[in-house]
Amino acid sequence: MQARPREILDTAGAAGAGLLNFLLPMRCLACDERVGSKGSLCARCWREMPFIEKPWCQRLGTPFAYDVGEETWSPAAIASPPAFDRLRTVTHYDGPARSLVLALKFSRRRELALAMGRWMSRAGNEFLDKDCLVVPVPLHRYRLWTRRFNQAADLAKVVASHCGGRFEPELLKRTRRTRQQVGLSANDRQQNVRSAFTVSRKGVEMVQGRHVVLIDDVLTTGATVTACSKTLLSGGAASVDVLTFSYADPSKGAADDWLNA
Ligand SMILES: [Zn+2]
Repeated sequence: MQARPREILDTAGAAGAGLLNFLLPMRCLACDERVGSKGSLCARCWREMPFIEKPWCQRLGTPFAYDVGEETWSPAAIASPPAFDRLRTVTHYDGPARSLVLALKFSRRRELALAMGRWMSRAGNEFLDKDCLVVPVPLHRYRLWTRRFNQAADLAKVVASHCGGRFEPELLKRTRRTRQQVGLSANDRQQNVRSAFTVSRKGVEMVQGRHVVLIDDVLTTGATVTACSKTLLSGGAASVDVLTFSYADPSKGAADDWLNA
């Protein structure tokens, strides 16, 4: 396996790292603009990064137009309480955030997970701690074989390293291949992912009574994280919170909706 720049830097020692820093180009993570330090965005991408900010629904993390108090739930959360406790997302799926998601997933720029996971750690700071199990939404083994890595697992690993929780990429399994989610209604999406997940044999004992933080790169209708949360809770988890990098609003016709399949 080819070592990533960060891995090289981790093992190179101070002198080697200095040399590599000198040799590697310093480019914005999301575009090709030169920047002053590695692992950062240029000023324009930073300005255009569509961060989701407080005030938000305590449960779903969806932003409110004005501050209505810390513990307030949105009408959507009241009407249909989710299976998980809280959901937090770093950005809307747009602009530089969309570029990062696509580059991580399809251009195999796995080093991007370092910055994306760092932002996710901040977004999830209310529920991340050293006692949680950090669990990525799994790919079906066929898709893992064709793509060769699970971008959600890369993000989960970084999140776990920041909070001190246990990274558990094999706790959940996707037991059947689901149809691509593109073009499906919210109801059909739920049907599509129902029974698609199970707690792995080695995860059964591990999950009992534990607080799980479920990680994914993109959230659309929430059907996938809901199905995973239900599986974890029925498998014995005490609670589940969800942390994703980006939210693609399906009502706005997110062109890359299928990303979350
Ligand atoms: Zn840029």
